[in-house]
Amino acid sequence: MTQQFADRMYSVKRSFIREILKVVDDPSIISFAGGLPNPKSFPVEEVTAATIKVMKESGESAMQYSTTEGYLPLREYIARRYAKYGIKADAGEILITTGSQQGLDLIGKIFLNKGDTVAVERPTYLAAIQSFGMYEPRFVDVPLMGDGVDVEALRQVLESGPKLFYSVPSFQNPTGITYSHEKRKQAADAFKDCDAVFIEDNPYGDIRFMGEDLPPMRRYMGSGVITMGTFSKTISPGMRLGWLYAPSEIMDKLITAKQAADLHTSYFVQRVVYQYLADNDVEGHIKKIQSMYKVQRDAMVHAIERYFPAGVEYTKPEGGMFLWVILPEGLSSTKLFDMAIQDKVAFVPGEAFFIDGSGRNTLRLNYSSSDEARIEAGIRRLAKAINTLLEESKNDIIDIRW
Ligand code: PMP
Repeated sequence: MTQQFADRMYSVKRSFIREILKVVDDPSIISFAGGLPNPKSFPVEEVTAATIKVMKESGESAMQYSTTEGYLPLREYIARRYAKYGIKADAGEILITTGSQQGLDLIGKIFLNKGDTVAVERPTYLAAIQSFGMYEPRFVDVPLMGDGVDVEALRQVLESGPKLFYSVPSFQNPTGITYSHEKRKQAADAFKDCDAVFIEDNPYGDIRFMGEDLPPMRRYMGSGVITMGTFSKTISPGMRLGWLYAPSEIMDKLITAKQAADLHTSYFVQRVVYQYLADNDVEGHIKKIQSMYKVQRDAMVHAIERYFPAGVEYTKPEGGMFLWVILPEGLSSTKLFDMAIQDKVAFVPGEAFFIDGSGRNTLRLNYSSSDEARIEAGIRRLAKAINTLLEESKNDIIDIRW
C-alpha cells in the first residue's frame, strides 16, 4: 500500500541536524554540533526535592487534567519576571507551552495559510524553518549584521507584506549575534504602521555572561510582538516547559490552537517547576550557568585565536551557547565536516540555517556541552582540517590556471 501523505510532508526537510547528531553519537568524537545545555548545570537535587514536595502535598491534584493556559502561579511568576526589564506583563498574556518549540508551531497554526510570507533572519534557527514550513509558507530572509538585523533590508521586506518576522534578538542560534539597543529601537520603529507580527524567540536572553543586559523587544514595541520563552536553558530542556507572551487578541487564538493540539502542557511538570522556582535561589542558579558558559566560551574563542588560520572570521558572543564561523569564500563547510569527522571532531555546517541552501562557507560551533580541555583539543583538530582544506583549495586554483 502506498501511503497518501499530506502535501506539506513533502515540502518539509528532515532535520539535517538530527542526521548529523546520529553521526556524532560516538563518545570519542568531540562534538560542537549539538545544542545541548551543560548537564552539570541541571539542578537535579533541587528538582528531586520539588517533585517529592508536590507529590506529598498535592499529588492528586498534580496528576489531574488542568487548564489549557497553564498553572496560574507559574504564569504569574513568568509575568512578574519581565518587570526587571520594565515590562508590565499580565499572567493572562502568558500561555504555557511544551517547550518554546511548540510556541513556533502554534504561531504557524494561527497565522499561516499556504503561500503566506514569513520573514526570517539570514541565517536563522533551523527548527523554525522546519516548524513554520509545516504550514507551507514562502520564506524570505533579512541579513544579520554584527549588531543585529539589517534594518534597511528589514524595512524593504516588510513592504512586501509578510505575516510574520521571526527573530532571535539575543545570542541567536546559530550565530550568537545580539541586537544592540540601537538596533532594537530601529527594528521596533520599522514595525510602526505595519501589520506583520514580530516573533521574538528568546531562549538565551538570561544566559548573558558579559556586556550590557538588554530588554526583550516587547519593551521597545507596545504591541504587535509575541515573545517566546523557555526553561530549557535555565533549568532543563527535558522538562519541555516554555511559554508564549502575547497580546490578548492573539492569546485567544493561541489558546484555541493549543487546546486542539494537546489540551495542556504536562500539569505535573508545571507544578514541579513552579515548586522549584518558589523554593530556590533561581537568579543565583542562572548566574552559575552564566559563569560556566563564560569559561567555555572563552576557552573556544582563545583556542580559535590561537589555532585558526588568518582569513577565518568568527563571532564572539556575549551570551548563549553558539559561535559562528565564516571560512574564506569558496571553502565548503560540508567538505570540512567530512574531513573533521575523520579526526573525530564535529560541528554543524552552516547551510542548514539558510532558507536557500547558501552559506556554504559557514559553520556553527556549540561550546556549552564540552569542557575546556575538549574545546581546546577540538578546535586544534578543526584548525588542522581548515588548513588542509585551504591547501587543497590553493591547489584547485593552480589546477584551474594550468
Ligand atoms: N528557539 C531557539 C532559537 C532554540 O535555539 C531552541 C532550542 N534549540 C528552541 C527555540 C527550542 O527550545 P525548547 O523547545 O527546548 O524551549
